[in-house]
Amino acid sequence: MSAPRRLPVLLLISLACGGGTDKHPSGDLPEVSAARLKEHISYLASDRLAGRGTGTPGYDSAAHYVAERFAELGLDSAGTSGYFQPVPFRHARAVDGSGLVLVGRSGRRALIPYRDYVPVPNFVAPRAEVTAPLLFAGFGVTAPERGYDDYQGVDAKGKIVVLLTGAPSSFPPAGRAHYASNRLKRENAVGRGAVGLLVVRTRDQTFPWDRLVRQSHRGNMRWLDRNGAPTDVSPALKGAGTLSDSAAAQVFEGAPQSLSQVLDAAAAGKPRSFDLPLRATLRTVSTYDRLESPNVAGLLRGSDPHLRDEVVVYTAHLDHLGIGEPVKGDSIYNGALDNASGSAALLEVARAFASLPTAPRRSVLFVAVTGEEEGLLGSDYYAEYPTVPLERMVANVNIDGLALLYPFREMSALGAEHSTLDSTVARVARRMGVTVAPDPFPQEVFFIRSDQYSFVRRGVPAVFPFMGMRSDSGVDAAARFKDWLATRYHLPQDDSDQPMDLEAGARNAQLEFLVGLEIANADERPTWKQGDFFGTTFGQQRAGSR
Ligand SMILES: [Zn+2]
Repeated sequence: MSAPRRLPVLLLISLACGGGTDKHPSGDLPEVSAARLKEHISYLASDRLAGRGTGTPGYDSAAHYVAERFAELGLDSAGTSGYFQPVPFRHARAVDGSGLVLVGRSGRRALIPYRDYVPVPNFVAPRAEVTAPLLFAGFGVTAPERGYDDYQGVDAKGKIVVLLTGAPSSFPPAGRAHYASNRLKRENAVGRGAVGLLVVRTRDQTFPWDRLVRQSHRGNMRWLDRNGAPTDVSPALKGAGTLSDSAAAQVFEGAPQSLSQVLDAAAAGKPRSFDLPLRATLRTVSTYDRLESPNVAGLLRGSDPHLRDEVVVYTAHLDHLGIGEPVKGDSIYNGALDNASGSAALLEVARAFASLPTAPRRSVLFVAVTGEEEGLLGSDYYAEYPTVPLERMVANVNIDGLALLYPFREMSALGAEHSTLDSTVARVARRMGVTVAPDPFPQEVFFIRSDQYSFVRRGVPAVFPFMGMRSDSGVDAAARFKDWLATRYHLPQDDSDQPMDLEAGARNAQLEFLVGLEIANADERPTWKQGDFFGTTFGQQRAGSR
């Protein structure tokens, strides 16, 4: 389908850069400077910015830094207040007075918040309590198109449902990622009449329990709609939380299957659903505060009078976790790789576009988004209240974590296979001498875990280029990445002191630039593949609006 477009696109790029050949990996196109990337990362990840927590002064400094760079590059302001689009949030925390009590044949057991389970605050009721029987409902997934339903033969009405993280391994990666989403599971449970939700972690979790506990002390956020109401809440659900492994084992005591049998069945693909011989009282006391934190948006106008109203949207989240519990004596979660590096790349990709002798045919929008670490909130808000019409957004290219760990020779293009973006990425990769590999960690469902998903959910084809797991330096890339996940990811140790291969980062940013440039200059806008899961699920929302 996309093959006939290949030649014209390459020709256009060649024309745009003065007839450069493919002799150099990137022709005569602007190159991304490793030194500039370093400068941005050093500032954004400095202790001065205190980890850029959503709603903090450190984040605001980062936002001003981005806006100043956008202005220097001559980008049009594309926020609602200059370059800024302020996003209002409710920040909620479950506090003292919250608790979970299990009552079964063997008696009554009180579970301690932030030790035995991580409570989820209630966004609409400061004091919420529910007592109900427990139902184990597998992954909590209902996928009619696959003939799969964890609720088949059981009744969730008036019950607290106990669900596993993730989705069946038998699903293809896209469906697995989609159905693993908390939001979907919560909505499904509420639709079945559930009044509470407890999550049990499967065995393939790479995010350690103690880190989850540490992070959950910070509370949760939701953005507020134009009436000031928190969105993405389910008032019918009176309480929710995630169980520790030992609490989960207690929940399955005396049940038709033990926790370990359940986890075996889950790993094999299809857990059985059944009522648990327990009742639970889940009490949640929540405190609220209101925050505001801006997205930052700048636009480069396209040069083609017929195509310039269409927009390629680049996103990178500017926020990180801020100040938190100290680890090894450090309490600043600087987020150097996650995602000062991607924000730096966003700025340098914008510079590359701005320095083209002729602007690309379509317009290119650069959005540094807030609230990603709080649940993709800034991008969700932007996609809900976009400053360019949603139906004119032809694609989203998301940058979350540059390849800084080793010289890479492979990239994964998460999500590209769902649309014609896969051939775009393939062309760019060839040009740069990089191979494109499938998602190396499908069980991590990265595709729904960063900001591109906010656009995908509204029908916009998206790609999240992600560092590959092969290096040309003899490094065991996968081992190094896993080590990074274990020792630095979402820890204060993701700071500027870690070794960073900025040349690899610059090459990664160059690839991001070329992907957007191809999309911006192509004759046709990207389309979902015929019958694709996301295109079918979400794409029709935009059909007819073109
Ligand atoms: Zn993160």
